[in-house]
Amino acid sequence: MKPVQAEDGKQLRFYCCGPTVYAAAHIGNFRTFVVQDVFRRVTELGGLRTKHVRNITDVDDKTIRNSQAQGMELGAYTAKWTDKFHADCKALNCLTPHVEPSAVGHIKEQLEIVQLLMDKGHAYQSEDGSVYFRISSYPEYGRLAHLDRQTLDLGKTATARADVDEYDKDSVADFVLWKARRPEDGPNFWQSPWGEGRPGWHLECSAMSHKYLGDTFDLHSGGVDLVFPHHENEIAQSRCACGGESARHWFHVTHLLVDGAKMSKSLGNMYTLDQLQEMGYAPVALRYVLAGAYYRRPLNFTLTGMKDATSALNKLGRFDKALSKASGAKEPTYRDLCKKQPELGIFAPAWASLEDDLNTPEALGHVFSAMKGVKPEELSADAATQMWQAFRFIMEALGLQLPDPDADIEVPADIKAIADERWAARTAKDWGTADALRAKLAELGWAMKDGKDGYKLTKI
Ligand code: AMP
Ligand code: ZN
Repeated sequence: MKPVQAEDGKQLRFYCCGPTVYAAAHIGNFRTFVVQDVFRRVTELGGLRTKHVRNITDVDDKTIRNSQAQGMELGAYTAKWTDKFHADCKALNCLTPHVEPSAVGHIKEQLEIVQLLMDKGHAYQSEDGSVYFRISSYPEYGRLAHLDRQTLDLGKTATARADVDEYDKDSVADFVLWKARRPEDGPNFWQSPWGEGRPGWHLECSAMSHKYLGDTFDLHSGGVDLVFPHHENEIAQSRCACGGESARHWFHVTHLLVDGAKMSKSLGNMYTLDQLQEMGYAPVALRYVLAGAYYRRPLNFTLTGMKDATSALNKLGRFDKALSKASGAKEPTYRDLCKKQPELGIFAPAWASLEDDLNTPEALGHVFSAMKGVKPEELSADAATQMWQAFRFIMEALGLQLPDPDADIEVPADIKAIADERWAARTAKDWGTADALRAKLAELGWAMKDGKDGYKLTKI
């Protein structure tokens, strides 16, 4: 993404809205986090340092509701899901943010923003005890989300108020900064100059981006659902309280759909990484699917896509191994590649696509075309080393840790059962059944190679 230049030309200051830790993050959430990770990698490999801040939302309507339903203390409950989020991020090879602040750890900073907004006349305490942001006090309100200013009618005093964390564009309203304590919050409340209560969801990102990145920083990102109200409210709070521009650029990731539909529990189409792993898919296959789609377009997730990703990764893994063998050099690491960009040679078009608004599908297309004419075993050691570094440069930009095609792979029990059945059919010279079972295995993404005394399964 070339157009985003760091203000000081050296370090890109980058804020991402982090997960709400009330359950395992789903693959839609991970689309956003993986795309943000690719963005960071492309920036760093391109020679710019980053300061990446991503918060943990550990107090909001959902975390409180779910922890109470489970009879757990809020901190213990959110710690459990924060750990799970970290484990999933690691499995998906996402770089760790430089700072990962939590909302509960920054109550003081959030109250300071409320105080500034009260002092400057942008906030008021209502009769229900909560403190609200007065949207009519900020004429720019609605610009990011392109809200219709006539409908908004900000000139008049807005009377509608929203005290829930999430609402849609039809309910534009003064939004809650500090929620007065209610019985359903249980023991989850803090002291404030406006009485006992807890922060509203939008406030935390203003407080934490301000604390760690300053009044004006380079880039702010999240999924497209956050444009309104979350980011609109964040801009209003940050600019009115702290001055400065807040984020100079915004970067929103379009949603992931499953089989063409929005993910929802009722449709039963909400996948987590664990569920995909139970089905036999490696985390890197999910990473390939998520990183390989252009972030401005919806990504339609299907299990066929996961199978295709698995075979694409096997091809890349074989190529990588052949280059490594022909080169004999030390494996290039992400840090080495960030320090010094190698000669990109046949992979230069792939890098150009990544630098052009993170066009990852085009970059992968270039990688596969470039690989077509190459026989690594015929290259000199120097040529193989150079090509390996260039190839790894692109793989690192996408964050793909390639599988070793020769490593012993774990074969799921249902696949092994089909293979055993086929081996028995073959031994009994029942060629029709054996062929049908081979085709079935292929459909499931497995190839069966027959030896004299047994078979070997490999992933297609
Ligand atoms: P949450 O944990 O709900 O606060 O969301 C974490 C991140 O995931 C936010 O940036 C959301 O905008 C993003 N997100 C939620 N659903 C999807 C989806 N279906 N596709 C892509 N990103 C999503
Ligand atoms: Zn946020």
